[in-house]
Amino acid sequence: MIHSPRGVEDILPRRSSFYQWVEREASFLFSRYGYEEIRTPTFEETNLFLRSIGGETDAGKNMYTFQDKKGRSLSLRPEATASIIRAYVQHKLYREEDLWRVYYLGSMFRYERPQRGRLREFHQIGVEAIGQASPWVDVELVEMVVRFFKGLSLPRFYIRLNSIGCRSCRAGYEEKLKEYLKLHLGSLCPVCRERCEVNTLRVLDCKSDECQPIIKKAPGIEEYLCEACSAHFEKVRRGLEDLGVEFTVDSHLVRGLDYYTRTIFETISCDLGAQDAVCGGGRYDDLVEDLGGPATPAMGFSIGVERLLEALEKGGVESSRGKEGAVAYILTLDGRSQIKGYELAGFMRSEGVKVELNMSQRGLSSQLKLVNRKKIRWTLILGEKEIEEGIVILRDMDSGKQEAIEWGRWDRLKEKLKV
Ligand SMILES: [Zn+2]
Ligand SMILES: [Zn+2]
Repeated sequence: MIHSPRGVEDILPRRSSFYQWVEREASFLFSRYGYEEIRTPTFEETNLFLRSIGGETDAGKNMYTFQDKKGRSLSLRPEATASIIRAYVQHKLYREEDLWRVYYLGSMFRYERPQRGRLREFHQIGVEAIGQASPWVDVELVEMVVRFFKGLSLPRFYIRLNSIGCRSCRAGYEEKLKEYLKLHLGSLCPVCRERCEVNTLRVLDCKSDECQPIIKKAPGIEEYLCEACSAHFEKVRRGLEDLGVEFTVDSHLVRGLDYYTRTIFETISCDLGAQDAVCGGGRYDDLVEDLGGPATPAMGFSIGVERLLEALEKGGVESSRGKEGAVAYILTLDGRSQIKGYELAGFMRSEGVKVELNMSQRGLSSQLKLVNRKKIRWTLILGEKEIEEGIVILRDMDSGKQEAIEWGRWDRLKEKLKV
């Protein structure tokens, strides 16, 4: 027997409806804000990711990279923003759009050690708003994600917010932070000792017990922000307060990808363990230019679907949300009634009723047992006798009550089923 590779999962029908529900809610809500769906390729030139998310980040180091038959280096996408910006530049959308709003849904790939809440193929839902530097964009994005989570009834979550400044003011902060960390180098965990030189900010993201006390006392970025970055952040905070969106400013918050600038945020679920961020995002005002387009500010976020589903379940949202079973089952008993069954099923489906038609040789009682097990409310019985009499029997599986409906009187059937 061949098993699925390590770190990837089948999403069986009993669970896929949960995914579908969340995805439907996302497309529905985001489109109300003017976002349209974009679908980009699953793999790209490796260079695209190295130039955007950075080769030294966890995501950059853990890519699925391979050579195609012509020897080109390609990688499965570890995230979607790089591809979307590549598409924006490639199709010169900056000529047409003042603010280009898109959302996406799909699989991402990272070669990481599989653990709870972390798979090698995982799913993200995200948005990008490209073209405007205004802090109002930041406010809208955070407000939208909060509305989304509330709409799903995600309990106990909060927004962590920070500004990591622009390239110039961040450099000054990084120097200060490096100086501070070097004073405590011996007490840092081995990973952070290495990070300290090349990836200084990421030390702030370390969860290890050794690093925690040092991080807590580390200087925050706030006082190092330049005037423009500081004013921008102030407007974002004020906008969110005015809208009544709750958030916590955390001046040690950093993100795992290199391209972020200014506002960054995470949505934290209190129902998850160590991997507690269900959503992360921020501005990336330099990325369009870095990838060959004109200087264009932008912002986005992505939601980890697996983590979101876990948080929803832990918070009491049933995974059966979004799962609609069939409303009716058509019970046939011989070849002749089968043809009638197709006819009846065809009518019901055209009326929008989810209906299952028998395909087996089972008898009456065995089929009724099956309908009960499937928890289908209505059974339509079609046997030889019913066909002779020109009727179909409608059985309410909850009460056991039955009544005959004249063949063709589908108005009566619709009335009974309330469709
Ligand atoms: Zn700045
Ligand atoms: Zn550490």
